Amino acid sequence: MGEERFDYIVVGAGTAGCLLANRLSADPSSRVLLLEAGGEDRYLWIHIPVGYLYCIGNPRTDWLFRTAEEAGLGGRSIGYPRGKVPGGSSSINGMISMRGQRGDYDGWAAAGNPGWGWDEVLPRFLKHEDHQTLDSGASDPMHGHGGEWRVERARVTWEILDAFRDAAAQTGIPPSDDFNRGDNFGCGYFEVNQKRGVRWNASKAFLRPVRQRSNLKVVSSAQVTGLIRRIDGSGRVEGVEYRLGGARGESKRTLCNDEVILAAGAIGSPQILRCAGIGPGAQLSEAGVTPATELPGVGANLQDHLQLRMIYEVRKVRTLNQQANSLFGKAGIGLEYLLFRSGPMSMSPSQLGAFARSGDDEPSPDLEYHVQPLSLDRFGEPLHRFPAFTASVCHLRPSSRGEVRIASPDPFAAPRIAPNYLSTDRDRTVAARWH
Ligand SMILES: Cc1cc2nc3c(=O)[nH]c(=O)nc-3n(C[C@H](O)[C@H](O)[C@H](O)COP(=O)(O)OP(=O)(O)OC[C@H]3O[C@@H](n4cnc5c(N)ncnc54)[C@H](O)[C@@H]3O)c2cc1C
Repeated sequence: MGEERFDYIVVGAGTAGCLLANRLSADPSSRVLLLEAGGEDRYLWIHIPVGYLYCIGNPRTDWLFRTAEEAGLGGRSIGYPRGKVPGGSSSINGMISMRGQRGDYDGWAAAGNPGWGWDEVLPRFLKHEDHQTLDSGASDPMHGHGGEWRVERARVTWEILDAFRDAAAQTGIPPSDDFNRGDNFGCGYFEVNQKRGVRWNASKAFLRPVRQRSNLKVVSSAQVTGLIRRIDGSGRVEGVEYRLGGARGESKRTLCNDEVILAAGAIGSPQILRCAGIGPGAQLSEAGVTPATELPGVGANLQDHLQLRMIYEVRKVRTLNQQANSLFGKAGIGLEYLLFRSGPMSMSPSQLGAFARSGDDEPSPDLEYHVQPLSLDRFGEPLHRFPAFTASVCHLRPSSRGEVRIASPDPFAAPRIAPNYLSTDRDRTVAARWH
């Protein structure tokens, strides 16, 4: 029997991969294979919003990466969560529905990327959006309805968060009820990717509705381990090698007619390329890989927005800390979610946001505050017993640049992720002034 052959092979059923598989297989004459390293997204905690607490750091859903020891963090290595399951990071992330700002897209277009300007990407956002505020039949030039990507208003408000918003207004940051109009300046509740209190990941939005298409094959627990290149001298990638069920699983190979599309995320895609010998030759040799194509940009230019998390103890106001630390409170939380899909279990990690500029020379907000009516030492640990809120801040346009390297040719070995946090004066100044 001949080998199964496809037109497109999409590597990674994450946020981008689910959408790509949907759109490419919409043409019945195209045969599409979607390969995902993680298992199926049936785990209950993926779907209950508060479940990010149990998905991050869990091998069932997270790659469990860590950063290298970072000089800017006093030599510490920190957890670097990435979704490993259909839906990818959209299955474990903060669910905040957030486009970039007009200036970000226009900047990318001006840097030589045609098609990336705000006016060009906006129609794409509108096409796949299903915004709750338009359920009534209303229309809004900045939002779409009827697409696959559900956006809803937060289902919980907190007095402590309302007070933070009022305080922000006193410092000149106005209230905002929509951060997705191109200019984020303001403070308000985040909108979320949820449907009636349940997480709406890219798998539910784009993959599940089309999984029955006869021209789409989805294989989970399939980690791509190599790229097959033509031997005609062109070097063109014409297929992939993958392993079913982990490092000791069965090896497979599949060829395609048109394109292999790497949608394995900001860490996974450069790792695959580097393991295949595509990247900066000297570093590949150091890792024990024979260089095949010199492409110095592979794995370079990693940018990440470090969150600085400040906790403020408060008095005479309700926070989740008190509720979560009492048996009666816990029972109420569970009951509220069961009955109404509301309350703390429907909460994304951050509920209130504020956007501001770190200096007058900034053309648009470059600081994002995430405010939560709770506090804890570390993800996965219990909430503090004293009433408190957390206001973390991140710099949206850091100038520090990091990289993703491989430490060995073994595709199952963890990559070396070095974000180089706070490695420029500018980033350290912003962090020190605005935390
Ligand atoms: C903790 C966290 C919180 C976040 N919060 C928010 C938020 O609130 N709002 C927001 O808009 N964004 C948020 N983000 C960012 C957002 O989730 C990501 O930008 C987005 O999901 C990236 O999509 P992607 O398709 O590039 O990668 P991913 O969604 O990560 O998908 C990559 C997929 O490829 C698979 N893969 C990797 N390597 C291989 C391989 N070798 N073979 C086969 N499959 C492979 C992975 O398992 C994964 O499923 C958050 C991210 C994280 C990690």
